[in-house]
Amino acid sequence: MKLINIRKQFPILNQEIYGHPLVYLDNAASTQKPLQVIESLQQYYEQDNANVHRGVHTLSSRATDAYEGARKKVANFLNAKTEKEVTFTRGTTSSINLVASSYARAVCNEGDEIVISAMEHHSNLLPWQQVAKATKAKLKYIPLQNDGTFSIGDVEKTITDHTKIVAISHVSNVLGIANPVKQIAAIAHKHGAIIIVDGAQSVPHMKVDVQDLNCDFYAFSGHKMCGPTGIGVLYGKKQLLEQMEPIEFGGEMINHVDLYDASWKELPWKFEGGTPIIAGAIGLGTAIDFLKAIGLDTIEKHDKQLTSYAVERMKQIEDVRMYGPDDGRFGLVTFNLGKVHPHDLATVLDTYGIAIRAGHHCCQPLMLHFEASATARASFYLYNTEEDVDRFILALEKTKEFFK
Ligand code: PLP
Repeated sequence: MKLINIRKQFPILNQEIYGHPLVYLDNAASTQKPLQVIESLQQYYEQDNANVHRGVHTLSSRATDAYEGARKKVANFLNAKTEKEVTFTRGTTSSINLVASSYARAVCNEGDEIVISAMEHHSNLLPWQQVAKATKAKLKYIPLQNDGTFSIGDVEKTITDHTKIVAISHVSNVLGIANPVKQIAAIAHKHGAIIIVDGAQSVPHMKVDVQDLNCDFYAFSGHKMCGPTGIGVLYGKKQLLEQMEPIEFGGEMINHVDLYDASWKELPWKFEGGTPIIAGAIGLGTAIDFLKAIGLDTIEKHDKQLTSYAVERMKQIEDVRMYGPDDGRFGLVTFNLGKVHPHDLATVLDTYGIAIRAGHHCCQPLMLHFEASATARASFYLYNTEEDVDRFILALEKTKEFFK
């Protein structure tokens, strides 16, 4: 499929905001949904809707096949060894919290270390703060350099034989750059630690192979990759997931229940208590089909090229300060325009039909590192074009004049 024709697949993009064509540049927060995904949700609710696993009737078995079929698609997409390694969750946040509440609380003790970085999204920071408080493990930060990144040398120095868990984002939602998670995984393993990777901003933009990365857990969200909201994934190595206890108890996840005890189903269902997110999982499966038909390599190339084009154009505007390293951005750029508050900037850009994000991007420690209370962020995806960037740049220039 050619990217040039892709916009037609996204009906939402075909509208005006304040009389201007919508330019949607808030993709790192959430992406738009192609017709294929919308129609798969409609088809499920119109034709197959029923609860899964328990029913013997036709609709229930169709719903079960579609739900479990989606799991197989995810396993294949990530190159997991088996679909038993794929747990459906509400999103990246739930996936990381599952590992923190189950695995981490069971293995961490006083004197142990959990290694993270100050570049992490709050979803990959707060769960570890809570584990550290509950277990008296030490939360250790890989030091950041001026540009907000960290060096592999500092990773080597921070991870020790006391480290039990390393939790790092694959792609930062503020800097847009990829961390060398394969190398970090190797360092963690050398010290007997496990690594969990926050893949919220990587899975939409690049091919991810969990076996090649050799990560122990990998978390991501469906809504950032053309899928529905409310669905996400926790990939985990089978031997680790098998030793973990569930954190939600109730229907669907049990084998046998008596008055005072119960036993759990096998993987992955022991982690999916209650009626699962059936339609969400099916929609995510369709989003994966959609992205694979285009090709993740094509998407990565497009998103990187478009971001570089935007960065080059932004460099021409005096007073624009961009955050993070100059090269290697995966589809987003974080910036400020002189002394204009990013919220004011985003509000004015909205009147030109341009949707960007402003705030701390759930990365307050990184904002502190940059001594910025807030920043603006433009983020691009497969349906954005150079014309979108040109409209954004023009609106940025007009906004600069407006605040002069
Ligand atoms: N991690 C990163 C790097 C993110 O960008 C986000 C969302 O912006 C999350 C985690 C949290 O994702 P969700 O809100 O879908 O759970």
